Amino acid sequence: CTIGLLRKLNMKYISTRGGVPEVSFREVLLAGLAPDGGLYVPEYYPKVSGEQMAKWRDLSYEDLSFEIISLFVDDIPPATLKEICSKTYDPKKFRYRAPERVGGRSTGFVGDGSVNDITPLLWLGQTRRRGQTKPDSGLALLELSNGPTLAFKDVALQLVGNLFEYVLGENGQMLNVLGATSGDTGSAAEYALRGKRGINVFMLSPHAGGMSAFQKAQMYSLQDANIHNIAIRGTFDECQDIVKSVAEEAPFREEYRIGAVNSMNWARIMAQIVYYFKAYLAATKDDGSVNFAVPSGNFGNAHACHVARMMGLPVDSLTIATNENDVLDVFFRTGVYRPRNQAETHITSSPSMDIAKASNLERFMFDVVSRDPGELCRYWGLLKKDGSFKVPESMRYVNPRIRSGMSTHSDRLETIKHIYKEHGTLIDPHTADAISVVHSGILRFPMIVMETAQPCKFADTVREAVGFEPQRRDFFRGLEDLPQRVTVMDPDVEGIKMFIAKHS
Ligand SMILES: *Cc1c(COP(=O)(O)O)cnc(C)c1O
Repeated sequence: CTIGLLRKLNMKYISTRGGVPEVSFREVLLAGLAPDGGLYVPEYYPKVSGEQMAKWRDLSYEDLSFEIISLFVDDIPPATLKEICSKTYDPKKFRYRAPERVGGRSTGFVGDGSVNDITPLLWLGQTRRRGQTKPDSGLALLELSNGPTLAFKDVALQLVGNLFEYVLGENGQMLNVLGATSGDTGSAAEYALRGKRGINVFMLSPHAGGMSAFQKAQMYSLQDANIHNIAIRGTFDECQDIVKSVAEEAPFREEYRIGAVNSMNWARIMAQIVYYFKAYLAATKDDGSVNFAVPSGNFGNAHACHVARMMGLPVDSLTIATNENDVLDVFFRTGVYRPRNQAETHITSSPSMDIAKASNLERFMFDVVSRDPGELCRYWGLLKKDGSFKVPESMRYVNPRIRSGMSTHSDRLETIKHIYKEHGTLIDPHTADAISVVHSGILRFPMIVMETAQPCKFADTVREAVGFEPQRRDFFRGLEDLPQRVTVMDPDVEGIKMFIAKHS
């Protein structure tokens, strides 16, 4: 009934910079960035009451995702949206649990008690007594990395892929998705879009360095005709600059219908809101509140938690964790936001968080300035002029219980070792970053840590920590030996444009 009402209210999207008319979800999905350079945000945050959440308690992930996503999408028929949610959150697509968790002593989670949970909650240090599972450490991992590329980005991108296919099919359009990746985004996007009608993917990655052998093999071994891997003789930043130049050239962009799936796309944030609700429902019995810790790079995942909280989810505290690239930690501790440049960016053992700026922070700042686009533009003007801005103490936290911290390489190694020794569970370096930061502050319970990748994606670091390599599920054995399909090119915008023109 409430949902029916909200649907009639029409959810529109506005730009954080206020320079464009409001648009509907479908446009936001295909556009990515707003034409005024801002990010699209929903016009308001739908509120979810305690009674509503109580009704959601026993829903499967696919049904819960439909309920929540319906609050943000009013231009896709409900029956179709429901189909898309069911197709996306099919347990068969999120079945790649780490082998040590399958039937091992650390298996078991609140929820429906099976791997069908899409994002199962794994209590660390739990005990099972008389068939009952008792969380005894108060610390849990939300397993977000059971999808096809073993990173949390699958949860959102699998949905985006299916939404693209539907909307493009309806409009009789096609799309050339152009992106740059230094790690998990590329493979998650390619697995979400492979074989999809009307979509080509051109994914740029640095030819040398950065990604692990596993990550490279995941992308380059795809043989689908619509997937084009381009290894650039240059850095990740050069890859990103090429994408930007091509996307900013309006005539080329229009003619070749260039689209993006980067984390500035609202649909990705929207899909991520769902698992914060799911985690809360799995961790609590009737009511109560929970704490979340999120390893952060572009602030997409953490922003989804902020939105869930604005919708009424009882989140007691949110911990933002960074690695040595601590732009976000500095912001949350001091109010100063100062993006870095390439030379100041550290290459770390949690490479998916090696960022120079946190693009999604603009969405959060929009709420900090009480959704005043003029104020937002003033801050971004300072950013352009001085390279940084400072938010005064008085308005620093729309959301007061946000904490932050950073970890170093040795912190992460120690945490991986500690969690393995104490709980028999292997974690990846990104998840270790969040646990390390949580442990360095005052622990609040229940604490739910976002597990953003599986350890076998970062085997070298895990071996350095515990002395052996994490196992792989059968599906991934010999991945690095499969034939690879990749074109090596110079960092040259014209060359890339010709490649796109030829293959689209
Ligand atoms: C992308 C990624 C992150 C960072 O997520 P953001 O939404 O960019 O903050 C963290 N961990 C892993 C494993 C990732 O792939």
